[in-house]
Amino acid sequence: MDKRKHRNYLESQLLFSCNSCHCHLLDQTSIISRNFQGRNGPAYLVNHVTNITLGTKEERMLLTGIHTVADIVCAQCQVKLGWKYLRALEEPQKYKEGKYIVEKSKVSKDFTSWDQFIIY
Ligand SMILES: [Zn+2]
Repeated sequence: MDKRKHRNYLESQLLFSCNSCHCHLLDQTSIISRNFQGRNGPAYLVNHVTNITLGTKEERMLLTGIHTVADIVCAQCQVKLGWKYLRALEEPQKYKEGKYIVEKSKVSKDFTSWDQFIIY
């Protein structure tokens, strides 16, 4: 078995979809961290999200200080998914700029692609 080929396949196939309308939102490989906090619970920090609409830009006081953020909603069903970090005030938080917070409760693994890999 060619392990490398297998892994490449996973990278393009393991998707997360919107819980409400099942449209594809992100690839598993876009997840930078699984230990972030959203407004209503645990969240992912993600490099790239598709099929979303950006809300109004605003300054928000978060656990890690003041950030300029914009809410993100599912482009298809308008459910609020989290937010995008546009600007972080403090240097140690700058790595989050341009990244997204996606609440875990709003997305689920797309099982049409995941169930081929039942060992996970
Ligand atoms: Zn949706």
